[in-house]
Amino acid sequence: MLTANTHMTGANSLLPKEKIIAFITPYLKNKGMYLDIAKAFGSPLYVLETDVLARKAARFRAAFSRHLPETAFFYAMKSNNLPHLSGHLLKHGFGLDVSSGVELSVALELGASSIIFSGPGKTIQELALAARYPDRVVILLDSIGEAKRLASVLEEKQKRMPVGLRLNNNPEGLWRKFGVLPENLLSAFEDIQAFGRLDFQGLQFHASWNLNPDRQAAFIKKLGQILSTMPKQFLDAVKFIDIGGGYWPAQGEWLLSDVPQGYIIDPGVSIDLFAKELSNAIKEYILPLIQCRICFEPGRWICNEAMHILIQVVDCKDKDLVITDAGGNTVGWERYETDYCPVLNLTRPGLSEKKCRILGSLCTPHDVWGYTYFGSAIKENDILMIPAQGAYTYSLRQQFIKPIPRVAVKENSNRYFLLPE
Ligand SMILES: *Cc1c(COP(=O)(O)O)cnc(C)c1O
Repeated sequence: MLTANTHMTGANSLLPKEKIIAFITPYLKNKGMYLDIAKAFGSPLYVLETDVLARKAARFRAAFSRHLPETAFFYAMKSNNLPHLSGHLLKHGFGLDVSSGVELSVALELGASSIIFSGPGKTIQELALAARYPDRVVILLDSIGEAKRLASVLEEKQKRMPVGLRLNNNPEGLWRKFGVLPENLLSAFEDIQAFGRLDFQGLQFHASWNLNPDRQAAFIKKLGQILSTMPKQFLDAVKFIDIGGGYWPAQGEWLLSDVPQGYIIDPGVSIDLFAKELSNAIKEYILPLIQCRICFEPGRWICNEAMHILIQVVDCKDKDLVITDAGGNTVGWERYETDYCPVLNLTRPGLSEKKCRILGSLCTPHDVWGYTYFGSAIKENDILMIPAQGAYTYSLRQQFIKPIPRVAVKENSNRYFLLPE
């Protein structure tokens, strides 16, 4: 479940300049609109583009539902927890994947009718909240202890609740904390049945973040082998298999390197390739045993390109050092000390990348937006854009020294507004 800043290193190579230019060109083309938004609402700002969000949601759904008979899609709210963003995805037929009582409350308030609640260590209060909505929430149990606690909450309320069980798919290291080991599936199922009040409906797994589908496909194969050993009573009970999130955008992962203006890319693949490979694995190993619904929990893939950050140059301290009006608290972690995202000078646009430290205004040196910008020059009051920053930034924002920026929503090329605080 999260995004620590550890990177899979594998087929790393240098990021070709053409890829960067192709990535920034559409944003530069629309610079007038982003500048209008900054002018209307001030800086710094998060900008949510709901038309981009809708396109991503439709694209993800189409990629998988083309191959599989029955599918359901749940947006992982933790990847960007702006309620307006989740609300918009509800309108496009997504359910919500929540991971705490706070997120569950937001999903309920948004009127979500199909919510899955996953995550380790759910408290009694969180379970009790979920138990009030057995027609809207499926709890994905993280352990047998949790099943037992939920059963006693339900006993008190004289209610029943649909549940699934999370399987651990990576027992090495810190990922051991999630779910139940596959070898314990049968005894876990028997326990869940024995507790009563729990309507067992399916299985879930989630494989961190994946630049390609290999690891997820390998676990689907393993899951098929496990299912083939399970009794008919179990197979009959399974209504869904939820294969989680973790689909990395096709652009791949871009990282700083030791070489100035040289970046490392861990290449990604298209969502169509994920869909084809994972669906093939599902059709080969799962559907022959169980004709069930296949569920998905994408977060990053859906929200990343839908939100950008606009900041403004406050102080040009030297020809290669500027201070901006927003700090790292905007993204919540020291992301751009390791990750690379182009910084675009919208006020003085250009396709050449110029060396200049673009720093935030927090009283800490660990407050970096980038070591270069794209533009013809950089001056005080220039508006800079850090595009496609929707995932694991907004959710991690924090009130630290500087205030948290407001959110502007852009619905299409001529309609945008400021969200109320
Ligand atoms: C974080 C998480 C997701 C979303 O992961 P992304 O990499 O953002 O797609 C989905 N499911 C679970 C259980 C998670 O913890």
